Amino acid sequence: MTVSTIGIIGGGQLGRMLAIAAARLNFRTIILEPQADCPAAQLANRQIVAAYDDPAALAELAAACDVVTYEFENVPVAAAEALSANIPVYPPAKALEAAQDRLVEKRFLNACGISTARFHAVESQADLEAALKDFGGQGVLKTRRLGYDGKGQKVFRSAADNPDGAYAALGAVPLILESFVAFEREVSIIAARAADGSVVCFDPAENVHRHGILHTSTVPAAILPSTADAARQAAEKILAALSYIGVIGIEFFVLADGTVIANEMAPRVHNSGHWTEAACVVSQFEQHIRAVAGLPLGNADRHSDCVMQNLIGDDILAVPDWLRRPDTLVHLYGKTEWRAGRKMGHVTTLQRKSPVSG
Ligand code: AMP
Repeated sequence: MTVSTIGIIGGGQLGRMLAIAAARLNFRTIILEPQADCPAAQLANRQIVAAYDDPAALAELAAACDVVTYEFENVPVAAAEALSANIPVYPPAKALEAAQDRLVEKRFLNACGISTARFHAVESQADLEAALKDFGGQGVLKTRRLGYDGKGQKVFRSAADNPDGAYAALGAVPLILESFVAFEREVSIIAARAADGSVVCFDPAENVHRHGILHTSTVPAAILPSTADAARQAAEKILAALSYIGVIGIEFFVLADGTVIANEMAPRVHNSGHWTEAACVVSQFEQHIRAVAGLPLGNADRHSDCVMQNLIGDDILAVPDWLRRPDTLVHLYGKTEWRAGRKMGHVTTLQRKSPVSG
């Protein structure tokens, strides 16, 4: 396939970084995003300012591009399917379907032979109370759809936590109660699959969240080689099951004995993979562009150890200090105003690669 113009649904920082990677390989990009002058459109060739499911806008995008991809997992499945009738859409729409609903996602992961937390569907307060009873009063209650960065969640730490009103408090929408996983650490893996079925994985990153938002990703993760292998194998199973094309991010809990439990997957480039632009020959963004454009996947080897830190809200004020550091790559997203909790950029600090790192 000869691709010269790539459509990207979604105009945030992930789309922006995809547009940069695309431009470096001589591709043009067109962004579909309702917010004018969004971070991605600042660096793309063109923006179509419209809703993600606007039929006329989708038709315009299909007519102007050779392939369409997306930078967030809540692209309406119907829109992706309708587009697929006219133009290749990668990753495939069924990856969106599997990732948009936490219940569907867990069933899909289990069907692939991948462990998750135990779970119950919750559609009423009575369902919640029965599910909590099954898990000894502990669990994490989440909305099935549209949750992100810990939003739409309630944690029950013990039987003493009163569930009264919790179903209504999360909006009386379809929920899932997950068993509470007493994990030792959280890791993620960024993997890519090309049209020819070849798969390339980046090294797993160890992630620390603050207030439900990713704070740092550290590579190498402090995990056993067998844990890293288990994460890679899970990624391979998921990618094969979805006949996937593109980059995926998969988050795991790691138990004290090194076992991995999949938490969630994102059919797109992922915040916990931003370190790849500084510590690898080919970044997750270029890898995704290569995959969707039908080019061979690149080398994901890591030449340095590193820590990526998100710049959230007023962290942006520390940029002058970061710029003075000789070991740090600063990447900003073109957002003119900072607000608490808003991702403004990230920094990746490199260290010499340790001799025995995963
Ligand atoms: P999520 O939105 O599913 O990524 O959840 C946000 C964060 O909540 C995760 O990164 C974990 O730190 C924590 N968490 C989510 N689910 C569970 C669980 N079943 N057991 C324990 N902690 C969880």
